[in-house]
Amino acid sequence: MRSRIEKDGGLLGTTGWAGSRRAEQRAIRVGTWLVLLALVPLCGAGAFVIAELRSATDLRDQAREVDASVNALVVMNELRAGLLDERNWAAASVGAEDLGLDDATIEDVLGFSIEDQRRTAQREVDELIGRHADPALAASLATLRQELPREYTKVGDAYATLESRVADSSQRQVDRLLVVAGEVDGGSGLIDVLRILESATLARQATTALVTEYFALEFAGAADADANIDELVEQRELYLIAMSQIARMQRPDSHVAVAASIISESPEARSFTDAASQLTDELLTTGFDVRPTAAESEPRVDPFGELVDIFLDGVESSRQHLGLIDAAADDVTDVSASLSQEADDSLRSVIIRIVALAMISLTSAVLLARVIRRPLRDLSTAARRLRDGDTGSPPQPSGPAEVREAAQAISEAAGHLALAEQQAKALAQGAFDHPILAQTAPGALGASLQEAVQTLAASLSDREEFRRLLTHEATHDALTQLANRRAVMARLTESLARTRRTSSSLAVMFLDLDDFKGVNDHHGHLVGDAVLRTVSQRLLLAVRKGDHVGRLGGDEFLIVAEPVSGFREALRLAERLLDAVQLPIAHGDGLLAISGSVGIALVDDSTNLNAEEVLRDADLAVYQAKSRGRARIELCDEDLRSELERRTRLEDAIRTALAQEQLRLHYQVIVDPATGTASALEALVRWQHPVDGLVGPDAFIPFAERTDLILDIDRWVVVEAARQLQTWTGDDGLARVPVAVNISGRHLVADDFVDSILQPLADAGVRADRLIVEITESALLDDLDNAAHKLEQLRAAGVRIAIDDFGTGYTSLAHLRTLPMDILKIDRSFTVDPNAASLVQLIIDTGHLLGARITAEGVETIDQATALTKMGADELQGYLYARPVPPDELDLAGRGTRTENVPAESG
Ligand code: C2E
Ligand code: CA
Ligand code: CA
Repeated sequence: MRSRIEKDGGLLGTTGWAGSRRAEQRAIRVGTWLVLLALVPLCGAGAFVIAELRSATDLRDQAREVDASVNALVVMNELRAGLLDERNWAAASVGAEDLGLDDATIEDVLGFSIEDQRRTAQREVDELIGRHADPALAASLATLRQELPREYTKVGDAYATLESRVADSSQRQVDRLLVVAGEVDGGSGLIDVLRILESATLARQATTALVTEYFALEFAGAADADANIDELVEQRELYLIAMSQIARMQRPDSHVAVAASIISESPEARSFTDAASQLTDELLTTGFDVRPTAAESEPRVDPFGELVDIFLDGVESSRQHLGLIDAAADDVTDVSASLSQEADDSLRSVIIRIVALAMISLTSAVLLARVIRRPLRDLSTAARRLRDGDTGSPPQPSGPAEVREAAQAISEAAGHLALAEQQAKALAQGAFDHPILAQTAPGALGASLQEAVQTLAASLSDREEFRRLLTHEATHDALTQLANRRAVMARLTESLARTRRTSSSLAVMFLDLDDFKGVNDHHGHLVGDAVLRTVSQRLLLAVRKGDHVGRLGGDEFLIVAEPVSGFREALRLAERLLDAVQLPIAHGDGLLAISGSVGIALVDDSTNLNAEEVLRDADLAVYQAKSRGRARIELCDEDLRSELERRTRLEDAIRTALAQEQLRLHYQVIVDPATGTASALEALVRWQHPVDGLVGPDAFIPFAERTDLILDIDRWVVVEAARQLQTWTGDDGLARVPVAVNISGRHLVADDFVDSILQPLADAGVRADRLIVEITESALLDDLDNAAHKLEQLRAAGVRIAIDDFGTGYTSLAHLRTLPMDILKIDRSFTVDPNAASLVQLIIDTGHLLGARITAEGVETIDQATALTKMGADELQGYLYARPVPPDELDLAGRGTRTENVPAESG
């Protein structure tokens, strides 16, 4: 158990908490993890998309380049065709010049002007060159046109250079396109149409060349004929190859297919081709020599008209083939455009995919947040709350299964903690039998908690029990189980407050057993304890419900009766208490009777006293009760209180009297009846009060005896008596008479008692046998052994001992044996009581038997003196002989002179 707690303590220690909090702050949030997680595939997808985008962009750029190249190529081809056209018209113009035909004539015959056609062709070429934006070519062309040879056959050569430059450029364009097309996806279609364009260009070139060569043959001399024939044959072959290639490669719905079908169905093309074929075949079979040239021979029958037709067919055929090129170029443009379109489409689709991907990412991020992050956040909030001790708001299970499980776990943990909290509260409130303590949370933790709770509950309940016991002990008297002094005083304080609040009355009763000391002395302490217990039980039964009974100590009890209607009710209750106490108590084999005295203090809302003051009042009353006899009830009223005040004042006054030497000693003569002389003097204290005059000892000695003041008085008396004895030394009469001083019981028990008697005598230089010490019987009996020992010491020193007031105490005569005494003084009450004669006789006889001298006190009449003397009294003391008088009034010789003045002074 202990090790577990320590371990837990370590886990829950400050550093542990702080560490985990730091970790919590340092850790990456789940949202970040999720974003990172989502970023990984997103990055991959992004990279893929970027690659796609790049390839789509590349494709589009390539398509754009192809498009631009195709445009350039088309222009180039148009330029090439235009140049051929221009060359043909230039050649026609030169040819017509050679034939001596002016343009007007030609226009008349043909219906059009060759020069016009030539100019038109030149304009078209200029325009194309302008589009081609080749200044070098434009310059070369301008020079060529200016310096054009005026000879038909030379015209072609003159243009050939320029043509080849354009052709080269065109070819380069085609080559580049083919390279690009080879790289482009779907470029094979482009390659096809480019090849067709090449073939169309070739066919057109061949056609135009055929026209040129044809007419060159017609017009040229034999010198060049072979070359021309070869050229013609070759061009024808080229043409046929090109056309068959086109026919093979063309797609049915292409522009080229349409243009080719136009050509194949064109009568002009066929007629020119036929004418060219015929001429070729003719020349190849007959040989050139047999055939005169147009220039040398006479013109054939309408040979010119026939040539013109052929020329026009050739021109038309050439134009149609130009259309073929345009168609092929259109096809190229179409393919390139569709490539471009495809590129654009793919780029668009890539962009669409990027957008879609981005949206999917965004949506999934949002979904992720909803599905995972929010429940996780709620979970973390719940966990934090739990950590901060809020067990009241368990998390709602939502989100993925793991999160739900965690939420469930936190919820259960919160339940455990809430249970633990409630159990701790129950324990703290000391509700050890609360049903919540029996509840067990599931699992090992629950079992361990339950075990801890049970252990704790048991130990706390033990401790509570122990505490109750301690409290009980602290507030209860061990012997009687009544409330002890402190507790009953606390109750009294509460009751006083309540009484004042409710304007009611209460009675506080101080009950003191009478002569409980005697019970202890005669029956032993065990019986004494049993008596106290019995009395306690009876008091508890006698009081009303709600009244408090407590033991102040010894044989003193305090009863708080609250409320009481007044003195009568209090009195009834007090009587009931005394009745209960006075019932005989069984002990051993006998019965024991005991009584008590009660002092009542009544408190109403006009009384403004605290508990101690009320207790003092009740104490005062019980003291009064005791002083007035046994089994009495006294109320502390104003008289009693003023009595208390009086005593307080008296106490102060006695102190003052001692300090200011207001005390005096008077002396009374004690007479030996046999001789009639003074055998002793008794010193009796008086108070010379500055206001009240001479005050007798009864007014202050009994009071002083209840305090230590009596010690001071007694000591003063001894010192004063010794001083007086010293002054009488040498006096004839007084020097031989001893002086008796009265010593109180309180003085007798003082440690320095013997010294306090002998020392003043020594100081005064007075012999000890001149002093007699009078001690009352009751003072002796309080602690006989100790008293006897001390008195023996005094006797050893020479001081005589007299037992005063004998007969008032409870001493049996048998006791006298053990009392150290020289003189027995029979109390005045026996002297004056004629019925006590036999008792007095018994005392005198017993005293004499024990070797004591007997003094009879209070002898006022001759009869008393006579009777006592007859009974054997050794000395007599009383007003019959003398009153106590100041030392200077002492008259030992005339001791009887004042007997006639005996007043009725009485005790
Ligand atoms: P006590 O010791 O018994 O003293 C004798 C008392 O009886 C004296 O009263 C005395 O005046 C009185 N008395 C003597 N003869 C007669 C008589 O014929 N008739 C009547 N009625 N009374 C007579 P006192 O002086 O008032 O003393 C009273 C008590 O005061 C003494 O009684 C003694 O107990 C006590 N006391 C007096 N002086 C002292 C003292 O110095 N120390 C102490 N401790 N007690 C003293
Ligand atoms: Ca006396
Ligand atoms: Ca006496």
